[in-house]
Amino acid sequence: MQIHSATFEISSPDYEACPESELPEFAFIGRSNVGKSSLINTLTNVKDLAIVSSKPGRTRLINFFKINKKWTLVDLPGYGYAKASGQARGKFNQFVSDYLAQRENLCCVFVLIDSRLTPQKIDLEFTKWLVEYEIPFVLVYTKTDKVKPAAVQKTIEQFKEKMLEYCTGLPRVYTCSAKTTYGRRDILDFIGLAIASDEK
Ligand code: GDP
Repeated sequence: MQIHSATFEISSPDYEACPESELPEFAFIGRSNVGKSSLINTLTNVKDLAIVSSKPGRTRLINFFKINKKWTLVDLPGYGYAKASGQARGKFNQFVSDYLAQRENLCCVFVLIDSRLTPQKIDLEFTKWLVEYEIPFVLVYTKTDKVKPAAVQKTIEQFKEKMLEYCTGLPRVYTCSAKTTYGRRDILDFIGLAIASDEK
């Protein structure tokens, strides 16, 4: 998929304020500093698109970007800013879990994971929650330029092993670097295919 246009639409402070839309949505989430803003800028080819969203105060909001007038990229708050909100929901914002569990046009969640780190508790808890709620997601390992390919593979295998403790099928996996743009095409093609099958 080529990106022809990417525009900031709106920021929502809670689930009720999310704009009504029938366009398919693809949401991005991860621990703060995982490289989410950088990846969004790389994917959309707009240098500072997601910087808008990381201005102070915006980090706790759900930010919507319209892409090619055909789909919506949703920038969810990083976990690092989240407050614990009850054991069942895990340590991320209540309104993020409301969005994820209730948004009817949500096609897929991109869960970003730092390819340099051993499996992190909060990432595992979050993916477990997604599995329990049957929310479709893929894993995206970020910052692959910072480590050797074998180390990225090790991180992926370690995470998979942990995930198999609470789910049977494993999610699709992507690797990317916002610095080199490696992985950009694969992620966009996945979104393109998902939209095409949604239109059928
Ligand atoms: P966010 O908090 O998840 O939105 O993370 P940012 O996109 O702001 O990135 C956090 C830091 O990691 C910044 O210093 C980025 O320049 C750096 N970073 C993000 N992605 C990459 C990447 O793919 N490669 C490298 N080398 N650095 C990255």
